[in-house]
Amino acid sequence: MALFALVFGVIYFSVKRQKFSGWVAIAYIAAFVAYILASVRTPSTSMGLIFLSTAMFWIFCLAIAKAIYVRCNATFPIIAAGLILTIATAGFIWLSVVAPDISSRAVLVNVAAGFFLALSLWPLWVTGKKLIDGALFGVIATVAITFILRVVIINGLLGYVLTEQGYTQSTYVWIFQLTNGIAALSLAMVMLFAAGHDIVLHFHGKSSRDPLTDLLNRRGLQGQFNARRTRNQDVIYARSIILFDIDHFKKVNDQFGHPAGDKVLQRIAKTAAGLAKEYGEVARTGGEEFAILTRWIPVEEAQLLAQNICDSLRFVAHPELAPNQKVTASFGVAILADSDSLDDAMDRADKALYHAKHNGRNQVALAKAA
Ligand code: GH3
Ligand code: MG
Ligand code: MG
Repeated sequence: MALFALVFGVIYFSVKRQKFSGWVAIAYIAAFVAYILASVRTPSTSMGLIFLSTAMFWIFCLAIAKAIYVRCNATFPIIAAGLILTIATAGFIWLSVVAPDISSRAVLVNVAAGFFLALSLWPLWVTGKKLIDGALFGVIATVAITFILRVVIINGLLGYVLTEQGYTQSTYVWIFQLTNGIAALSLAMVMLFAAGHDIVLHFHGKSSRDPLTDLLNRRGLQGQFNARRTRNQDVIYARSIILFDIDHFKKVNDQFGHPAGDKVLQRIAKTAAGLAKEYGEVARTGGEEFAILTRWIPVEEAQLLAQNICDSLRFVAHPELAPNQKVTASFGVAILADSDSLDDAMDRADKALYHAKHNGRNQVALAKAA
């Protein structure tokens, strides 16, 4: 338990914002404390300590559930959890002090724990799409059902009557600790896989995006190109590359400074991404150079999209520049042939872009067919 707490703690501190691991670490610290308390328990252990160890067991389940909610970006059902906790605590006190009955109390403790864990099944069911979500769901559901049923089965099948005195030596405790160990181990394993999976995805996402504009970078664009190979059979549909480069951007930087230039880049990126949203993905492929890889659309539509962005950029206001100063761009459009690599298409679009620049900038040029 301590080892798992340590592992998840290390993940939490070494990967920023991995809150999921933070909550799992808390869960395993609680489990560790619960284990220590349970192992030093004797018939004369005070009720307070017994309750503390129960509370730690519940905190374990609640923290696991909270970790899942954090991971699914869902709001933790604090009212439902609070309600179960209140009822369970009241029941625990009742069955310890008012009408002592350790067998019923054991049922209560376990059923409450099972319910706490089961809270996490809902967000997994709703938002989970990947294999790892299914694995989390399967393991958590199994553990929750085990918690709920084990005492019932032990009491029912073995006809076991627990007593406060015989508790520490009972078969019940033996089965309780064994299933707890297996549950904690399998939960830790699947949680560890989930944490690893999320970290890989996080850095993969970072490595394919440009931090300034949050557009895809060149690598992300290549990923998009590779991913969407399926073609619409209709010949009038094609994918295109629209390349555009901001006109005289060096002057903007020289006159108003690099930070102002960055703002202009961000605004142009946002404008282009908004206009291209229905048609494809925009990427920042160089300093002040962008590329749009379109979906399969009618050939003329790619050209119209480029013209639309070109016309729209003229009307974007840039408060950090001189009043009414406009920033324009030049565009090159290349229609992808089946055999084209991304580089082939970019080369042709770049040649067209060169023509647009030489014809006076602020315009769209269509590349020759492959
Ligand atoms: P042209 O119309 O021929 O494209 O002229 P240009 O000045 O836009 O082209 P040039 O390639 O000479 O200059 C590009 C400039 O883009 C140079 C560089 O200072 C600027 N730039 C590149 N990346 C960034 C960036 O991330 N932020 C800012 N602010 N400027 C950048
Ligand atoms: Mg350039
Ligand atoms: Mg330029």
